[in-house]
Amino acid sequence: MEKSITLLGATGSIGKQTLDAVRNCLPDIKVEVLTGFSNINALAPLVDEFRPKKVWVPDSTSKINLEHLIKHRCEILIGDDALNSCAVNNDSSIVVNALVGKAGLKPTLAAINAGKNIALANKETLVTAGSLVMGLAREKGVKIIPIDSEHSAILQCLNGSKPEDVEKIILTASGGPFRTWDKNMIKKARAGDALKHPNWSMGSKITIDSATLMNKGLELIEAMWLFNKTVDEIDIVVHPQSIIHSMVQYIDGSVIAQLGMPDMRLPILYAIEEAGRVSTKFPRLDFLNCGSLSFESPDEDRFPCLVLAKYAAKTGGTLPAVMNYINEWAVGEYLKGKLDFYDISRLISQAFDTYTVKPVTSVLDIVEAEAWADEFCNAV
Ligand code: NAD
Ligand code: MG
Repeated sequence: MEKSITLLGATGSIGKQTLDAVRNCLPDIKVEVLTGFSNINALAPLVDEFRPKKVWVPDSTSKINLEHLIKHRCEILIGDDALNSCAVNNDSSIVVNALVGKAGLKPTLAAINAGKNIALANKETLVTAGSLVMGLAREKGVKIIPIDSEHSAILQCLNGSKPEDVEKIILTASGGPFRTWDKNMIKKARAGDALKHPNWSMGSKITIDSATLMNKGLELIEAMWLFNKTVDEIDIVVHPQSIIHSMVQYIDGSVIAQLGMPDMRLPILYAIEEAGRVSTKFPRLDFLNCGSLSFESPDEDRFPCLVLAKYAAKTGGTLPAVMNYINEWAVGEYLKGKLDFYDISRLISQAFDTYTVKPVTSVLDIVEAEAWADEFCNAV
């Protein structure tokens, strides 16, 4: 059967890199569905190039604008419910979820319910509702294959191993743009400073999350769910060169690491191929010229978001969903220049002091937790 994909979030950093990987390495794959958001000018040329059967945009104005820009005739859907249904009502064998933030959860659940395997970039899905998502995926026999480079690396390092042989996971972190800055400088840092990430070019939310190290906290929770590990079985090591993408330590003391150029197209292809490899002509790692690899421990004093995420990870229940919601809102305000860098961790910490954590038994528990977090943000 001809392989086909649905791509949610086509106009974002992961979305564009997914299409570039398809363009370069998987020319026979059919792109069935593309979704955009506010950036219709970026979506239009992708629609004409990849000729999907269905396209999703948020509202009727976006639809009219898109119709004026494209030559390819396709069904254009609008509205939140249509985003969930277009994730499933198609012939695609795999859904690539490259949405950012809390918007990613419902389409993921819809796709799992429809029995579609998911190449998951949207880590917030697992942070918010990891138990529900992984439980449903098991029940439906659906594969969740991570696109996040660290988790793709861990999956590759675990290949062929017995679960009882794994001692711990070592999650690497670049350390972000403020790794060498002192606390006073970080305090005054503007979003523009944070957006200059040393190794990766990414969407604005994840770039700020990388600067606060919340990204590593979210990835810790993501790893717990994907690989069925506790917080204590996952170490975080700062590795500024981003050449080792993560490692697995085994009970005999052996460590297996996955290395590669910092190029998201590699984990994207590995996920689309459902943990398989395709031939690429992308630049190779040049060991003789890549310099030395260094490692350091993350500084929890300068980067308190990591401490908060570990606390949420240990506490579990609805706390990670509350943390994720407030973080996303605060990052948005920081990007607009309305909050300072350390306001992000201060607000999350304040919320932790007042929120009563509940167990997660259904999506309703997540909806209620997010409603609480929304009220908290409105009162700031
Ligand atoms: P981005 O902001 O560049 O792109 C997000 C996409 O989602 C865009 O197409 C946007 O139009 C769409 N979108 C945004 N809000 C939406 C909404 N409410 N409804 C529907 N569509 C919406 O983000 P990104 O950097 O590509 O990141 C996507 C996800 O992948 C995030 O969860 C991020 O943490 C993860 N991730 C990204 C990278 C990277 O290199 N960019 C690496 C690892 C993991
Ligand atoms: Mg990552």
